[in-house]
Formats: sequence, structure tokens, C-alpha cells
Amino acid sequence: MKVNVKGRFSFPGGIHPPEKKDLSREVEIQPGPAVKEVAVMLSQHIGAVCQPLNRKGDAVQAGQKIGDCDAFVSAPVHSPITGKVKEIALRSHAVLGRSSAIVIEAFSYSPTRRSYFKLKDDFDEKNYSAGQICEAVRQAGIVGMGGAGFPTRVKIEPNPQMPKETLIINGCECEPYITCDYRIMLEWTNQIIAGIKLARKASGCSQVFIAIEGNKPKAIEVMNRALESFANSDSIKVIPVKTKYPQGGERQLIKAILKKDVPTGGIPPMIGVVVLNVATAAAIAEAVISDLPLTHRVVTVTGEAVAKPGNYYVPIGTSVEDLIEFCGGVTKKSAKVLLGGPMMGIAIADLKTPITKATNAITVLTKEQIGRAKFARRQTACICCGRCLEVCPENLNPTKIAHAVKYNFLDVAESYYISACMECGCCSYVCPANIELTGYIKTGKIFLARQKKKIPG
Ligand code: SF4
Ligand code: SF4
Repeated sequence: MKVNVKGRFSFPGGIHPPEKKDLSREVEIQPGPAVKEVAVMLSQHIGAVCQPLNRKGDAVQAGQKIGDCDAFVSAPVHSPITGKVKEIALRSHAVLGRSSAIVIEAFSYSPTRRSYFKLKDDFDEKNYSAGQICEAVRQAGIVGMGGAGFPTRVKIEPNPQMPKETLIINGCECEPYITCDYRIMLEWTNQIIAGIKLARKASGCSQVFIAIEGNKPKAIEVMNRALESFANSDSIKVIPVKTKYPQGGERQLIKAILKKDVPTGGIPPMIGVVVLNVATAAAIAEAVISDLPLTHRVVTVTGEAVAKPGNYYVPIGTSVEDLIEFCGGVTKKSAKVLLGGPMMGIAIADLKTPITKATNAITVLTKEQIGRAKFARRQTACICCGRCLEVCPENLNPTKIAHAVKYNFLDVAESYYISACMECGCCSYVCPANIELTGYIKTGKIFLARQKKKIPG
């Protein structure tokens, strides 16, 4: 089969940072550490926080639901191990600062190679109704595993007000260093296809595109080959897209493939589109076919300061510290630990921070990288070069927004659509004056959110 690895589909703007994926790209998915304790966060998704279903001292089984909420936009959480609830306490959370977690001490836990999921030869999505699939996805607590954490049931459930036509499966993984989705595409290919077919059935979409960046020709090839071996795959097409950051952003992917714009402040279903990550598709297959909740995920542990970079299959709730130690620890050069990659990742100070359903990577940067960045980042005045405008994938004016935030004109920042910023970091990356544009914008968004909370009603 001829594979178009050039990937002509793309979006306006974006950048080409060094990929750095060679550190972990060829490392097969391996079982993670034999954890003695996990901390399962009650808020791992966009939407309402779960309430704990257990108390201190309760015994819990692996796969047992331990937190849930009645709200439509929410997702239950499950214990990944058999053990005892040690406490329900605050733990560091990359986004929220501190948040409640159910801490479980393991009775015993053997790291698994995940051989328990087998796709049977007689798999046929026609054996499942749309309602059955949506309910299984909800009960399994599946959320977007590419980083966003949006509850998947809400995305795929039919909605007469917003009928869905197109399902886009996101296999771009455009962020530097991260390779977990790439390995999943190579190693769990059939499972992804099964998950796609189930999601197509549930959502009622008539066409499906699997978007993969042109720098992953092997993944493009194996997905195409797998589609040939599955019956009823005619409406599913693999689309090689241009290798460019942030190609994996939902809005950018829709623009690249369908040439459509999601309205500012809107969501893809408004234009009949659903976007799911490849790992999420694999989780859908597990949930629907094998009744398995989302208790584990693949995390890339990477960066020049990690002794043994790789892709590890770990229980959700494993601490960053346990996982880094399992990878041989960090070298003396280590300086900064990020949850995620270097562009959109969040630096953490507490290594006890637990892995959540949305944690795709841990990246450890070196003192040299940080030092170089600090030296290079002596900020000067804006020279009005316009580069930040050219690369912004959301077509914003980063310099004007940052300026408004700097001088506390939040209403002006709002009038420049600060909320539409996806915090991709492209503007800061290219700014020759080293202005931390994304930093200003993130701060402005936090201030605005606080301001709005104070408004009565
Ligand atoms: S303004 Fe926001 S969306 Fe635009 S480049 Fe900067 S960080 Fe990215
Ligand atoms: S890239 Fe930097 S220097 Fe150029 S216009 Fe934007 S803020 Fe100003």
C-alpha cells in the first residue's frame, strides 16, 4: 500500500519545534511499577467532581467504582488495585493545586502486561446498541485521554439538537517528546479500530477519519493494514496530516481535514463533529466488549534527564515519584518535571502528584535546558514583528491580549477573545523579544475566572 507520509492537510499558523521523540519512540509499552499505594483523584475530568463511595478502612477490589456523581458532565472513578482505603485526603493536582483523592493501600498488585484484553474474531459492533455503548462508556469512567479529560459519553451520545456526521480519531500526538499514542497505534491497533467502530455506532457518524501526522509512517501503515482486515470499514479512512504543532488540537484538526471552523467559544458537535483520541478509542473497546473500567493508562516518561525513558502501562493514581524511580530515577542534570510535554505541560513541584486519566507524559528537563532558556529569555520590548500573530493557530493577537493583561485591563483582554486561547505556547516560542505571552494569557484567564466567580448568581 502506498502511504502518503507528506500529509498535505493542515491548519493556518503553528510551529515546528524539535520533535525529540527518538528517546522513547521505539520503546514498547511495558508494565509500570508494582505500586504499594495509589491516590485516585476525585476530579480527573472536565465537569462535576465525584463523591467518594467508600470510607477509610473499606476494602476495595480492582475495578470497583469508588467515586461517582449524578451530573451529566462527569465520569466515575475506579480503583485500579485491590486494597484498603487508607484515607480520603488532599493531594497535589497539576491544574487545581490541591484536590481530594481516595488513597488506597495495595493488598498485592502485580504489574500487568495487559494481556487480559483480547479482541475476539467474531467482534461485530452491530451486536451493541447505541444506548448500550454510551452506558458502558459512562460506567467505565472514560474521558478524553489526550490531555483534555472531557467525559466521552457526553461527546458520543446522540443529541437531536446537534446531529453528528463526522468522527475524527486523533492520532497526531504533535507535542514534542510524547510517544504513548504512537505506541498504542502500533501495539493495540485492532482494539483501536474496534473502539472506533463502537464510537461510530453510538454517535451515528457516517464518516470517520483517523488523523496521523506524516512523521509516523509506521502507524499510518499499520492502521491502514488493520482497516483492510476488518469488515465494514469502508467509511473509515486514515488521513496523513502535516507534521506541525499543534496539529492535534481539536479545532486545528477539524480545520485541517474538513476545512470547517468551530465557532469561537463553541464545541465540535455544533458543526456535527466528534473528535476522540486513539487511547480513548482503545478504552471504549475495553469498556464495551470486556466491561473493563478505565483504571490504567500508558504514560510516556521521557526527557534527557530520565535514566530509562519509555512508555509504561500504569495504574491511574500512581505517583510521579514512583514512576520516575521505576524508570531508573532522574540524572543529576534534572531540573524540572512536567506533566505533559514541553509546550503544553504543567511544571509540578510535588513528585507525589498522582497520574490521572489525562496524564499522557512525564517530561524531565535538564538544568542545561532550563538554564539556556533562562539566559535566552531576557525579556525586551515588543518590536512589533508580528510573528506571534502569524503562528497563532486560533488567529488571535497574542501581543495585544498580553499587553491588556499586563496592565490589568481584563475587559480589553476579553474583547480580544482571551478565552479562545488554547495555551499552545506557539506565540511565546517564536517571540524574539522573549515576552512570555502565553504566561500572561494564562494569568489573565485565571484572574477573569476569579472575577466572574465573585459575581452574585
Ligand atoms: S495566543 Fe494562545 S492560542 Fe495563540 S499562539 Fe499564543 S498560546 Fe497559542
Ligand atoms: S512576537 Fe514578540 S516582538 Fe513580535 S509582535 Fe509578538 S510580542 Fe511583539
